[in-house]
Amino acid sequence: MSKMRFFALQELANRKPLEVTPPSGRLSDYYGSHVFDHKKMQEYLPREAYKAVTDAIDKGTPISREVADLIANGMKSWAKSLGVTHYTHWFQPLTDGTAEKHDGFIELSAEGDVIERFSGKLLVQQEPDASSFPNGGIRNTFEARGYTAWDVSSPAFVVDDTLCIPTIFISYTGEALDYKTPLLKALAAVDRAATDVCQLFDKNVTRVFANLGWEQEYFLVDLALYNARPDLCLTGRTLMGHSSAKDQQLEDHYFGSIPPRVTAFMKELEIECHKLGIPVKTRHNEVAPNQFELAPIFENVNLANDHNQLVMDMMKRIARKHNFVVLLHEKPYQGVNGSGKHNNWSLCTDTGVNLFAPGKNPKGNMLFLTFLVNVLMMVYKNQDLLRASIVSAGNSHRLGANEAPPAILSIFLGKQLSTILDEITRQVTDTKMTAEEKTTLKLGIGRIPEILLDTTDRNRTSPFAFTGNRFEFRAAGSSANCAAAMIATNAAMANQLNEFKVQVDRLMEEEGCGKDEAIFRVLKETIIASEPIRFEGDGYSEQWKEEAARRGLTNICHVPEALMHYVDNQSKAVLIGEHIFNETELNSRLEVELEKYTMKVQIESRVLGDLAINHIVPTAVIYQNRLLENLRGLRETFTPEEYDILSADRKELIREISHRVTAIKKLVREMIEARKVANHLPCYKERAFAYEESVRPFLSEIRDHIDHLEMEIDDEIWPLPKYRELLFTK
Ligand code: ADP
Ligand code: MG
Repeated sequence: MSKMRFFALQELANRKPLEVTPPSGRLSDYYGSHVFDHKKMQEYLPREAYKAVTDAIDKGTPISREVADLIANGMKSWAKSLGVTHYTHWFQPLTDGTAEKHDGFIELSAEGDVIERFSGKLLVQQEPDASSFPNGGIRNTFEARGYTAWDVSSPAFVVDDTLCIPTIFISYTGEALDYKTPLLKALAAVDRAATDVCQLFDKNVTRVFANLGWEQEYFLVDLALYNARPDLCLTGRTLMGHSSAKDQQLEDHYFGSIPPRVTAFMKELEIECHKLGIPVKTRHNEVAPNQFELAPIFENVNLANDHNQLVMDMMKRIARKHNFVVLLHEKPYQGVNGSGKHNNWSLCTDTGVNLFAPGKNPKGNMLFLTFLVNVLMMVYKNQDLLRASIVSAGNSHRLGANEAPPAILSIFLGKQLSTILDEITRQVTDTKMTAEEKTTLKLGIGRIPEILLDTTDRNRTSPFAFTGNRFEFRAAGSSANCAAAMIATNAAMANQLNEFKVQVDRLMEEEGCGKDEAIFRVLKETIIASEPIRFEGDGYSEQWKEEAARRGLTNICHVPEALMHYVDNQSKAVLIGEHIFNETELNSRLEVELEKYTMKVQIESRVLGDLAINHIVPTAVIYQNRLLENLRGLRETFTPEEYDILSADRKELIREISHRVTAIKKLVREMIEARKVANHLPCYKERAFAYEESVRPFLSEIRDHIDHLEMEIDDEIWPLPKYRELLFTK
């Protein structure tokens, strides 16, 4: 066995779970202890400063420099009580993950004494040297100025010795360079549009909030095994590896008992989350071996997303302490379920009504129905934008595989709700409603609450499923920033609701319809128009692909092609029309996504080429020589007739190994050529397409030969930890 693999397995045998002791006291005593929340603000801020912050959060009123100084000072005092010495603006550039630049509170006074200072100016805005963050050509690197600006709506928090201030990140010329800026804009857009629509029903509604509850799936792998797999280290996924004799067929891992080392990790992660006010609640095993899930209670989208970013970061750090590495990649192991991040999404009014929950009376149900039907139309019209928001090099391995929603968008509503919608559309489309129709309407909608009590009606294969009081956008990938999906969803919803409102107003003004009737007529038309997006069957099946094509739904597995829909007419109408992005920002976002894709495939291709030539081929040759040696021995020992019989299988094996080694070498050479051609293309779009079409196919072709060799070659000399070791060691 190679030394790497041998030592890794040996190290593993000696692992023990770490002891994790929760802070003293009850959960409620330490929950949020590291967050500058309302309670701490009241304690550490003068009354006027506290009021200024709450006004800024609730109404968006600006904070003056003097007040900012007061806030900064209060924040610093609180942070110092936790032993904090540094502060940072914490932001979400378009790479994966978050960025921060730590500065000490330390400063020198005019007299040369050391003082600790944190001013309002430093709190509100900073200028990180940001030339190395992707910006899709917005800023030339020589003019590498970007600004971070305080996001008052997400509270500051403390990690280790650092006070972290959530910020947006924009260029010198004002364009967004991050995920948070457009997310805040999309949330504001859906707030405005949904409030307008709610006002048709209830004048008391003045704001609508979008909520997000994410479910983070991930794999754990032992640190020593991980270090012995260069492909995992460099690309986050295994580029080779024959499936284990046992994988998930038995599904005995799902809801099974969690191994002690993992429990210790989860326990520590939960404690740290709770200190940061992240309401994590559920933890369990997932379908695949060594796969797990973590989910919090839902929060408003902006905060929930900050929390998800923080959690992904903490997972990585805490896992290390427990000698694990957390794999957030969507598909670390071929042939084993991948990881997603379901985005549970709902809209809720400031009067406390969840707009995706059926009401208690016909009027409430009309409101519910209005939002439900607009979601149908939103997804129908924006299939391509929604897909663009979740595709990536990693997620493309998962989508369409028999474990995750296909690359076709559809909505699952459940039987009862579908029946109600169908009943509504069966009523005659006339200008005036008959008395009978009005009764049917009332009855039909009035029935919803009782019927919906059956929440077992679930469909796990649907990419966009209604789950009783929310929609679950299931196509998002485990490593993604949820903001991408949430920007698309909320912006598209805003756009759809605005359109709906225009149609209703028109009927009222131009045709003199009453309000209820106008709403009902538009709803009915919308239900009919959006019908193709509704699908209750098995989203994994081949029949669905054919059926979807007949319905005219799009199905795009090609990553760059799917991304290009960010700039199609409908997406522009939504993203530019609702002022989420300007033209430059949208184009730059597309450029960043395409380049990210190109880079990831490029790295995978290089790593696989190196491993194939430096690890696999030499190992195959060593084994081949052993077989040749064996043949020579046989020939010396036996008569020619006996030798022919006894050596046949080994000769065959030698032939097979030779063929595979030759094929691998040839394919690697061709892959390098294909990369060269792609790299020389002048435009980032062409490069991404070339990587998808002419580089990527080599990865699976080469892998196929390697995986066969893994089965043929003596286990003792195989250099890399195998799937059974990666997946089944605890
Ligand atoms: P599942 O059965 O899909 O595993 P869970 O009960 O684990 O569902 O919940 C998944 C996520 O959905 C949790 O984060 C939960 O807080 C969230 N959720 C529940 N209700 C809503 C809602 N109205 N809006 C948004 N998210 C919600
Ligand atoms: Mg779920």
